[in-house]
Amino acid sequence: MSLGEFDLIERFFWRPPGVGPQRAVVGNGDDCAVIAPAPGMQLAVSTDTLVEGRHFLSTVDPARLGHKALAVNLSDLAACGARPLAFTLALTLPKVDEGWLARFAKGLLALADEHDCELIGGDTTAGPLTIGVTVMGEVPAAGALLRRGARPGDDLWVSGCPGEARLALEAFRGTLHPGLSAETFDAVRLAMETPTPRVALGQGLRGLASSAIDVSDGLLGDLGHILQRSRVGASIVLDALPISPHLLDRGQDVQWDCILAGGDDYELIFTTPSDRRDEVHRLEQQLGLMLSRIGRIEAEPGLRLWQGELDHWDGDPARKAVVNRWTSFDHFKGAA
Ligand code: ADP
Ligand code: MG
Repeated sequence: MSLGEFDLIERFFWRPPGVGPQRAVVGNGDDCAVIAPAPGMQLAVSTDTLVEGRHFLSTVDPARLGHKALAVNLSDLAACGARPLAFTLALTLPKVDEGWLARFAKGLLALADEHDCELIGGDTTAGPLTIGVTVMGEVPAAGALLRRGARPGDDLWVSGCPGEARLALEAFRGTLHPGLSAETFDAVRLAMETPTPRVALGQGLRGLASSAIDVSDGLLGDLGHILQRSRVGASIVLDALPISPHLLDRGQDVQWDCILAGGDDYELIFTTPSDRRDEVHRLEQQLGLMLSRIGRIEAEPGLRLWQGELDHWDGDPARKAVVNRWTSFDHFKGAA
């Protein structure tokens, strides 16, 4: 890259001694960083890349972009029940814009500090704006939460209120009638641009959840990964889905589409044995984060959507929702 490459890296991404988490054995500035998980722990590693025009709009506030680039990676650690340790940053920049870099670094490092996750290295090159983050965390040996552990009879849960990011996306696309109030638009836009990775929840679910995944591509699609890897099926009760206050005045079709098919929320879906509900509720209290039981895992493959009460499993076909095509269940696809 240009002559200023090292100055740029040092100025915006290296922290002065004593600032930010410092857990690496060898941090920034050598050929490799060196880190050590605590004794008895294993490393959990994940990478996610954000490309301008594909994963974010060019108009996004760079501080929010910095937050999101790390958040989507921390979300993967959360889904595995890992504690964040460190990350690397592969930054491809069309030009050196100091104001942009300062804001980007601010958003990125603020979230990193919040999770005690140290930036230990990276790569900086010229090209179309692309942000690649690789994150490393630790989990107790053989204690990572995986997609493959769901068992028939397990409860199915979701954290928070998924769907807001999709509502924001549809507002940007202009498909909502009526449109959103300025206040609601700002709120859901914030949800889309600065998602909160459920890191504490993931760690709280260690030893409790039988499987977990973060919702990046949509609740039904991501649940599909759990079902496939666990070789099970599931029933979801639509009336048990948590509805964001920002979705309350929308029609039911839009609500369900945003919640079930919307992506980019980074909530966790997880399963637990049904005799451990009290523990999930205790975790909910402890974290101050709503955890909603939305269905159950079943031996019969596939996904079934129901209406009515959650524990009213009489299999009455009249309760079976018409919308029963999980991957293709997307109200907006036709409208786009
Ligand atoms: P090398 O040529 O040995 O790969 P580089 O010149 O790419 O090293 O990088 C020099 C140092 O700066 C390395 O320690 C690298 O990890 C770090 N670094 C490069 N880009 C970034 C970045 N965007 N954020 C943080 N550290 C970076
Ligand atoms: Mg390099």
